[in-house]
Amino acid sequence: MASEVRVRFAPSPTGSLHIGNVRTAIYAWLWARRHEGTFILRIEDTDAERSTTDAVQVVLDSMKWLGLDWDEGPEVGGPNGPYFQSERKELYRRWAETLIAKGAAYRCWATREEIQAQREAYEGKKGKKGFRFQSPWRDREDGDPTQPHVVRFRTNREGKTGWSDLVYGDIAYPNREQQDFVLIRENGLPLYNFGCFVDDLEMGVTLVTRGDDHLVNTPQQLMLYAAAEKAPPQFAHLPMVLGPDGKKYSKRHGAVGVLDFAAQGFVPDGLLNYLARIGWSHGDQELFTRDELIAAFDWAQVGKTSARVDFKKMSHVQSHHLRLRDDATLAKNVVPFLAERGLEVSADDATLRAAIGPVKLRAATLSELADGLDYFFRADDDLSYDEKGAKKFLTADYVANLERLASIVEGAEPFTAEALEAAVTAWIEADDIKIKDVAQPARVALTGRTRSPGLYETIVLVGQARSVARLRRAAEHASAG
Ligand code: GLU
Repeated sequence: MASEVRVRFAPSPTGSLHIGNVRTAIYAWLWARRHEGTFILRIEDTDAERSTTDAVQVVLDSMKWLGLDWDEGPEVGGPNGPYFQSERKELYRRWAETLIAKGAAYRCWATREEIQAQREAYEGKKGKKGFRFQSPWRDREDGDPTQPHVVRFRTNREGKTGWSDLVYGDIAYPNREQQDFVLIRENGLPLYNFGCFVDDLEMGVTLVTRGDDHLVNTPQQLMLYAAAEKAPPQFAHLPMVLGPDGKKYSKRHGAVGVLDFAAQGFVPDGLLNYLARIGWSHGDQELFTRDELIAAFDWAQVGKTSARVDFKKMSHVQSHHLRLRDDATLAKNVVPFLAERGLEVSADDATLRAAIGPVKLRAATLSELADGLDYFFRADDDLSYDEKGAKKFLTADYVANLERLASIVEGAEPFTAEALEAAVTAWIEADDIKIKDVAQPARVALTGRTRSPGLYETIVLVGQARSVARLRRAAEHASAG
């Protein structure tokens, strides 16, 4: 049985779902799941220019990718639909009529020129800043409802409007800051505050979670609940997510949209964990599975201070979640990232399956994983050497070691990591050579890089013939260099 917790996420589709915004969805979703409540997805698409089908799809895909499933909303429907504001005009019109009948709202035929003239005539203490339009239609009754008009709220400018916010505590704004705000435009579309009020009320929302940029809107919404004689929901406003420099997190800092992170090879549970954890704490625990987050999330531990994104921590959390995935799943996940690098590999390729285990220990994302797997699948003559690594290790000093190692690999019988290790150990002990003087150049020779899994493991994974070829090719490169 669903509990009475009913929360919603109400994005305006703009073409990407910002990680700061989706964090408000994550908290709402965790709260709903924790209390076996209902999580509603509502699309605030009244800005027809920006709200394209593609932009809506980005929202849906982002939510699905993160695993934030919704109980009511687009695609799944529900008893309170439609879940697109652009399709709810009739409902807004009815609510506007109700408020007009109650005397809480009125039709206004003021023209843009009239509003402009009043603004020009106004000179307050702070110049035009305190200007509030005073509609002559507030007290007139001779307008013609068949003529284009807006609907305005009849604001009582005395006193204050406040609430107890789950994050910010007690907050109140003086009512004199409000004007007779517009509820519905001439075209029948609601302004944000009115649409939000109607929808939250009609959808039975018990708790509204959103960014703290909406704090200033909450008084208008509360005034609407009071006028409708309905109990308002609770509110939880969340501080913005900031970049490492303390400025609002934006493109300048890195990927901003959920799907950008997906394209970079993040795993959803890792991003979910990281985003949930910025601005909310649970003792010192940093790493959470999805179920642990659901069990632990509580509003009491959500901070009021804006949280800064810390890329190092993000990467640490990512690598943890990457490792939690089993190798077969990772093999499937990494195939498109290998394809992006021009490497066509099948998810059940034996080398891929064998290499994932050791390589995933050095990767934080699927693209890092693909990078770490690259050299297993690249043609020998397409393998390029890391510039610094080649300069340091593919030199005349190491030619002999590379050639000797090539012969050892060629003769290894059986071709196993243990047999290779025994043969190499015997050689370096007899000749008094340091292992690093073999391993470092060999690593560059075999992988092109200076970091890889262990030497013997790598040789076995690259394969006997290919390892020999790569070691000899590197030896040639070194003697030519
Ligand atoms: N469409 C609004 C936004 O994306 C919704 C705010 C709210 O949740 O009330 O900012």
